[in-house]
Amino acid sequence: DPRLRGISEAIRVVPDFPKPGIMFQDITTLLLDRKAFKDSVDIFVDRYRDMNISVVAGVEARGFMFGPPIALAIGAKFVPLRKPKKLPGEVISENYVLEYGTDCLEMHVGAVQPGERALVIDDLVATGGTLSAAINLLERVGADVVECACVIGLPKIKEERRLNGKPLYILVEPR
Ligand code: 5GP
Repeated sequence: DPRLRGISEAIRVVPDFPKPGIMFQDITTLLLDRKAFKDSVDIFVDRYRDMNISVVAGVEARGFMFGPPIALAIGAKFVPLRKPKKLPGEVISENYVLEYGTDCLEMHVGAVQPGERALVIDDLVATGGTLSAAINLLERVGADVVECACVIGLPKIKEERRLNGKPLYILVEPR
């Protein structure tokens, strides 16, 4: 797809952020480039529009930037998966292991019904720990996770094209 090059080039790499040695993939510059931003949303929309998806679940925080335009375009609802203690209603929580320490994602009880077909969206997948926690949350309430989608993925996981048994769709590799 010729649009992928422009998408990749719109991502800024910030060395040593937030810690020394990390090459941070900054998608805020992609959001500033309206063609690259629209192209990335369009590619996902073309892929998911006829897949009977009723819920797009976005991972805090950058999944909140790509998820809602995709959800609106495919006729699905949007459900935020948030860091602990942000959601005001009753939640279910899923803890997961990071390179250093643990983290947690939460989802409102009642946001997703059993049998709903869900797409999970985030900006970047590295180890897959965050997306796996998202998959677990949705499966615990009886949803069917159709696929996980990210703008950026490391080459190894991009080639595997699967995460916890679910299909994984990635647009570009880190720059
Ligand atoms: P994983 O759980 O797959 O190891 O890490 C993915 C999570 O870390 C995502 O929620 C993603 O937003 C965040 N993340 C890690 N490194 C980067 C980065 O370089 N750029 C951006 N935008 N997000 C990152």
